[in-house]
Amino acid sequence: MIRINFRTPCTAAWKKWLQRCETQQSTLNALYATGKIGEVSAKLYREQKATYFALDGPFHGKCAYCETLIVANHPGDLDHFRPKGRVTNSSDMIKVKDHRGQEAPHPGYYWLAYDFQNLLPSCEDCNRPNKARSGGLRVGKWDEFPVKGFRAINPGEEKREKPLLLNPTTNGIKVEKHLEINENGIAKYLTLEGETCCRVFGLNARQALVQERIVAFRNGYYAMLNYLIARGNDSEVGARIHLSTINDYDAGISPYSAAGRAGIDSMCKKLGIKKSNVVLKAIAKVTGEHKAPFVPKS
Ligand SMILES: [Zn+2]
Repeated sequence: MIRINFRTPCTAAWKKWLQRCETQQSTLNALYATGKIGEVSAKLYREQKATYFALDGPFHGKCAYCETLIVANHPGDLDHFRPKGRVTNSSDMIKVKDHRGQEAPHPGYYWLAYDFQNLLPSCEDCNRPNKARSGGLRVGKWDEFPVKGFRAINPGEEKREKPLLLNPTTNGIKVEKHLEINENGIAKYLTLEGETCCRVFGLNARQALVQERIVAFRNGYYAMLNYLIARGNDSEVGARIHLSTINDYDAGISPYSAAGRAGIDSMCKKLGIKKSNVVLKAIAKVTGEHKAPFVPKS
């Protein structure tokens, strides 16, 4: 998982969709306010699905949680980060007091059903409960939404919640403070939120996913090394190729960019260089001499 800067499209279609979502949301909220349960129109909230899944979109065609590329034959889900219809904690249904003071299932965060910020592209393994690719361990978020302490049951109350799952589009979130990828492709958790993500999405239980992160870590690691060597050898073409790998991980374009970045950082650490200052220092390290910085042509 990496932080996503979700820049919304400026198209007329997007703006029109937001307006329709707002109208539909108001109707739904009004219904719930009278104690009734309303239907959420999947057709409406999925209308802009292509924006969330676009290769050149904010998520670069990847699952927001595990960074797997969502391809045509593995279509993925548009997941409600806060579940829209009901809420579970692991496999237990969350119960709350209803308007008559009686215990009832949590109605779900229905008031965020059409909120574009509550929608995230997810691969099927991260979203749908399954055991097939996780050694028999149940993984998949579905309706699960664990929080620390207070649980919102009314519109607006979610601002007081402390979710235990990370939303990569949250302003200012630093995913790397919660999860750290090592050379074995393991997502090491540093916080309770990181640990919860590992459990719910099966980040370490899905062997194929761990394997993909090993590959990305190595790609980043050797891209940095090979970039420095190419620079030392005055190979502009070679340097450009390896630099593009590094840049794609930096920009979060490539699958498993968190692992690729970890590999790049690992090589920088090994060589005692700072990535931000890599050109001058790297040349000195590899060739023993300073040269002008190499600025790739666009
Ligand atoms: Zn995923």
